[in-house]
Amino acid sequence: MVVILKHGYTEHQLEEAIKAMEAGGVKVMISKGIDTTILGAEGNSATLDIEYLSQLPGVERVMRVSEPYKKANRKYHPDDTVIELPGGKKIGEGLSVIAGPCSVESEEQIVGIAKAVKESGATALRGGAFKPRTSPYAFQGLEDDGINLLIKAKKATGLPIVTEIMSTDKIDLFAQNVDVIQVGARNMQNFDLLKQLGKLDKPILLKRGLSSTIEEWLMSAEYIMAGGNNQVILCERGIRTFETYTRNTLDLSAVLAVKTLSHLPVVVDPSHACGKAFMVEKMSLAAIAAGADGLIVEVHNDPKNALCDGAQSITPDDFSILMKKAGKIANCL
Ligand code: PEP
Ligand code: MN
Repeated sequence: MVVILKHGYTEHQLEEAIKAMEAGGVKVMISKGIDTTILGAEGNSATLDIEYLSQLPGVERVMRVSEPYKKANRKYHPDDTVIELPGGKKIGEGLSVIAGPCSVESEEQIVGIAKAVKESGATALRGGAFKPRTSPYAFQGLEDDGINLLIKAKKATGLPIVTEIMSTDKIDLFAQNVDVIQVGARNMQNFDLLKQLGKLDKPILLKRGLSSTIEEWLMSAEYIMAGGNNQVILCERGIRTFETYTRNTLDLSAVLAVKTLSHLPVVVDPSHACGKAFMVEKMSLAAIAAGADGLIVEVHNDPKNALCDGAQSITPDDFSILMKKAGKIANCL
């Protein structure tokens, strides 16, 4: 971080700025030019309070020169992170595809879909048990029963299970029963939840927030990693823009950005990004071409009657076609 002093600053203001920086635990290097004096922070500047420094009387502006995320940063961890799931499949090495319904609805539904997506080559099964719905009157998920049904589907297929956690009071239930814990877009900045998940030895699928910048998303990953849990999978699921034709706008450039800035694996969710089943296949293929490590796709046996997100769910048959094409694209990269 560097602090640029105002033209005509006084000696007292210079001392005040240095004192404030030193109080934050860094060594200060002074560079006096003809027009500009710059104070450089040497050491860990993550603890410095930018807002406070910016409003000191002698200070013109404060600029960060390094990223505020460290553990998630590729600079300090050049190799790609590979996350191993129970059963030995890996996310971050080859193409991984997580598939399943938006919500777990019944044993027949989840076990049937699990068998079908396994047959097509899925890496893991998704299914929401605790659903973050915009309306309190909409289906909220089968909750604990939904987790039990996912466990049945796992027993029937061997597929690891991925499901969303919404609050810290379910941490033990998830830690004991779920293979990959999903943090949904709406909870990307639920810092209490992220801190608790940081204490687990369990992969976390961290979705990008509805209107979050790439840096905010990586800072949320940093929250989990700061607690000691380095098993974070990032998920680009579309962001809010002015466009209303699609549910969100799939930001595929974020895949490249995040793969450059971070060593963490990135998967793409074309279902929530577009909100339309007919776009899922093509956007999945585009995501693979853009360098994604995998996909998370909503698959439903009866999309028209799905209790949640039927319009964006593809059928098991369409999923099978998607998997064949995805394999071809991945092979030619
Ligand atoms: C989901 O995956 O079911 C979900 C609710 O996704 P998001 O948090 O991306 O909206
Ligand atoms: Mn959904």
